[in-house]
Amino acid sequence: MEGLIPESLNEALDALSKERFIPVAGGTDLMVRYKRWKNLTPALPYPPLFISQLKELKGIYRENGEIIIKSATELSEIEKSPLVPSILRKAVSQMASPGIRNMGTIGGNIQNASPAGDTLPPLYVLDARVVLLSKNERRCLYIYEFIKGPGKTERLDNEIIYEVRFKIPTHTHEFYRKVGTRKANALSKLSVAALAQLNEEVLEDFRISFGAVAPTPIRRMEIEERIRGKALSKLDDHLIDEIAHAYEKHINPITDQRSDKTYRKKVTLRLLKAFLYQIRSR
Ligand SMILES: Cc1cc2nc3c(=O)[nH]c(=O)nc-3n(C[C@H](O)[C@H](O)[C@H](O)COP(=O)(O)OP(=O)(O)OC[C@H]3O[C@@H](n4cnc5c(N)ncnc54)[C@H](O)[C@@H]3O)c2cc1C
Repeated sequence: MEGLIPESLNEALDALSKERFIPVAGGTDLMVRYKRWKNLTPALPYPPLFISQLKELKGIYRENGEIIIKSATELSEIEKSPLVPSILRKAVSQMASPGIRNMGTIGGNIQNASPAGDTLPPLYVLDARVVLLSKNERRCLYIYEFIKGPGKTERLDNEIIYEVRFKIPTHTHEFYRKVGTRKANALSKLSVAALAQLNEEVLEDFRISFGAVAPTPIRRMEIEERIRGKALSKLDDHLIDEIAHAYEKHINPITDQRSDKTYRKKVTLRLLKAFLYQIRSR
């Protein structure tokens, strides 16, 4: 199996237009997914296309009110960049271990599309868009359109994730919690990312996303709409219970080696309420 180490993004896209390759960025997901106990090299289903050396896929930029993170930017770079909103930095800083964060990339975490992928809930509430490039086309999809199911995305075989971009958020309140077995090197049992904007006692914006409690992260715009624009005085216990109840049917976790579905659901709803109480107390 012949792999390729392209010298430019154009060379990588050209290769993908002719033959099927599997892009390898940090390799931290791929090496585990395709490991073989008795052999040194993992059994990749297609030849590897190494992309982590491509400078076109590296860096974090601010441009016209947006933050742009190139896909092969390592998690450790994102964690320390002052350009990156703290909700995403918090999530990244709790992922894996420093060694994995030095190798793993944001593009890899997105394309892996794990229900427990920790960059996803913050990217959902940031309304992030994923930019895909093929030899002759550029596509831009919202992250919640791009992620289709566990391990499934809208990416076509001839495409590379080029970057992720989102408007610089202007929220007054933010909330991020990851519940794992340990503080470090533990996949999420569940996670919650949320942003809100309070302006003169009016809740002008409210966004919340839940990770690891359904096949894809959950974000429900129609429920957010029910509290968006409400005066803070209306955010009473009754409304908070009503909102939690509305999310209940969308939170459908599984029981697996990391956690139990009853625990996952209960804690997720408690964290949702905790954020609403936090907003109410300003
Ligand atoms: C010990 C350990 C702990 C971990 N802990 C966590 C954790 O706490 N939270 C968490 O979310 N994840 C965790 N992970 C998973 C992993 O580290 C992350 O998902 C990481 O972000 C993957 O990035 P990568 O560059 O290594 O991806 P890779 O393994 O290189 O690729 C992953 C997938 O994305 C594709 N891909 C990569 N880049 C691109 C691109 N630019 N365009 C198109 N396709 C692309 C690959 O073909 C592959 O399908 C852990 C992994 C390990 C081994």
